Amino acid sequence: MYINGVYCQDYAVVFDTQIIEVGDVEIIKANYPDCFVEDLGAGSLLFPGFVNTHVHLEFSSNQTTLQYGSFVGWLESVLIAREEIIQGSTLEVIKGAMNAMLSSGVCAFGAISSYARELEALATTKQKVVFFNELIGSNPQSIDALYADFVRRIEESSCYPHITPAIAIHAPYSVHPVAIVKALRLAKEKNLLVSSHFMESRAEKEWLGGSYGEFKPFFEKYLGVSSSLCSKEEFLSLFRATPTHFTHATQIDEEDINTLKSYHHTIAHCPRSNRLLGSAPMPLAKIIEKEIAFSTATDGLSSNYSLNILDELRSALMIHSDIQLSTLADKLIESITKSANAILGLNGGVIEKGRDAHFVLLRLSNLPSQSALLSLWSILHNERASRVYVDGEVVFNKV
Ligand SMILES: [Zn+2]
Repeated sequence: MYINGVYCQDYAVVFDTQIIEVGDVEIIKANYPDCFVEDLGAGSLLFPGFVNTHVHLEFSSNQTTLQYGSFVGWLESVLIAREEIIQGSTLEVIKGAMNAMLSSGVCAFGAISSYARELEALATTKQKVVFFNELIGSNPQSIDALYADFVRRIEESSCYPHITPAIAIHAPYSVHPVAIVKALRLAKEKNLLVSSHFMESRAEKEWLGGSYGEFKPFFEKYLGVSSSLCSKEEFLSLFRATPTHFTHATQIDEEDINTLKSYHHTIAHCPRSNRLLGSAPMPLAKIIEKEIAFSTATDGLSSNYSLNILDELRSALMIHSDIQLSTLADKLIESITKSANAILGLNGGVIEKGRDAHFVLLRLSNLPSQSALLSLWSILHNERASRVYVDGEVVFNKV
């Protein structure tokens, strides 16, 4: 059993919808003589439910529509095909995407939503959802209408017991600073979590750094704008009093890392999305060295080929060759359990008394020869979960 970064052998957990007690199986049996104790078998590993902090479900129908390989090329293809992809992302398609996450052990996720069209599908899931209503809009003439729609969606997403409303600022290059300030004030008033894409591509870095690079012709063509709304520093300063979950951060430098650390921000690391959209890998070794909390997340099917969180960890293992292998594997498991849970402010993430009873069962068919590599082997040898519990109930069983 994986407890707070340590693998404890021959442990048992007593639970209903929440965890009642955890400990050595013989002590648990003595303390609960009337309880049925299920032996999960040799090679079984019980983890807390996994958490995927960043996914765009409204774009789940994409497979071969959007252009991969360059961020600006991809963004252009999104502008062209957005309506087609959203129309194709039907209730069934979105349910399929959620089930794919569930079968990889994801018991809770952060859904980044542009239009709140996925709410109907989310209402049906047992998974816990933090629903990030996204604000986008840089044109002062249309920002009031966009802001009003954003506030309406926050209210709409507040009506479900398993869905926590939250706020997403799309990106530094796409939201007017005045609207950001307004949204952050609202977040403070309503105590809502905040997330934002940040420093995803070289194009974004150059545009914010001096209104040059690949974004210049893009902005001139689509928005008639020839300079950036704000610099990277001005953008970050808006979030000084709001610890925020920044997604991607592939282009951050030492100074940015220090700023993120001093404002208590966190990072969502989406390695496959970054690779597919032509970005360099995020400087994960630095993030770990500076002890900045990070999650590993899938992003949406608009920039990925699966929402399987174990697939994401396998890719991260292969990308970050500058980090010692077993250390990286341990950090990655932590990034989808304890860290991701804390980032989303949920009550899972750790197997301990009082937490919600969300569990993921993984299996190794050969008995491990040592415990130091258990995270690595768990990631490498489990394409999907063997079983998943949400609120103490089995919600997925591998056939
Ligand atoms: Zn995203």
